[in-house]
Amino acid sequence: MSVLPWLDSERDALNAALTADRLGHAPMFTGSAGVGKRALADWLVERLLCLDVTDGEPCGACESCRLLPGGTHPDFFRLSPEPDKKEIRVDQVREFIESVTLTASLGGARVGRIDPADRMNRNAANALLKTLEEPADGVWLVLVTDRPDRLPVTVRSRCQLRPVAVPPRELAERWLAERHSSADPDLRTLALALADGAPRVADGWLADDGLARGLAIRDHLGRLLQSGSGGVELPAEWVESPEVAWPWLARWTAAWMKRARIGRADGLGPSAVSDDPTLFDRLEALWQDALQGRNLASDPIRHDWLMLEWLARWRALAGQLPVAE
Ligand SMILES: [Zn+2]
Repeated sequence: MSVLPWLDSERDALNAALTADRLGHAPMFTGSAGVGKRALADWLVERLLCLDVTDGEPCGACESCRLLPGGTHPDFFRLSPEPDKKEIRVDQVREFIESVTLTASLGGARVGRIDPADRMNRNAANALLKTLEEPADGVWLVLVTDRPDRLPVTVRSRCQLRPVAVPPRELAERWLAERHSSADPDLRTLALALADGAPRVADGWLADDGLARGLAIRDHLGRLLQSGSGGVELPAEWVESPEVAWPWLARWTAAWMKRARIGRADGLGPSAVSDDPTLFDRLEALWQDALQGRNLASDPIRHDWLMLEWLARWRALAGQLPVAE
């Protein structure tokens, strides 16, 4: 019984590959945020280390299965950026390789998990190449990344790519309905659409006030388009949480762009279609800048200045951006 039901087929595929000895020693789980690739990696790690796999599932009872949840498994190693650091450094990789290639203590496999793998800087990635190419017997490296394009091709080509796709909408909606039975079904559908079909992202928004905050940002943008003049008000919570505000600004800008193109977009009312190319250029520039803001969200820069400038450019679209009819 799977916690994330849409992963069942991929787990079956992994089991089949393991049984046929076709699973590369370095599977790399890729896919956009919120599709469940980390849950799948968790499962595979447990499956590889379990000393008594039954029907393709980790037993949950052996010494390995008991040690893993507590973080004290002697044959399991993690490689991630250190707290407050953006990158995985080369000396971390060397230490990790040394640990993971020692003789297994429980007599089973040894597993190293690199997550997020795209955080390895170039030197770190290079230090990993030899181990990826000539792994020791019984050693598995499990890599997880939202952004495989950021990894050198030399690393990617030595891994077995296991893309985790956005699940069918029906499965995702059913899962969300089970988890958020008291939520308005329309809001569940909207959350999933705005999350580009990634169930865990929608789940997170429904579990806290994430969707409500996103809708408040949409409404603020709508009011600015209607006012068209006067001062630009910058909500205090945007400045307090740029990591929340910027992604929503990018998301809504993309939605407004879509609506101007085809007359509708999730979360926005219908509108007339626009064929003004300058409008799309300006929207695209705003979208790019919002993405840039998102990438810098944890940096100590003046997000209030950036947001005010962004909002002033947004408001300048009043009268040009199709208004809901
Ligand atoms: Zn077990």
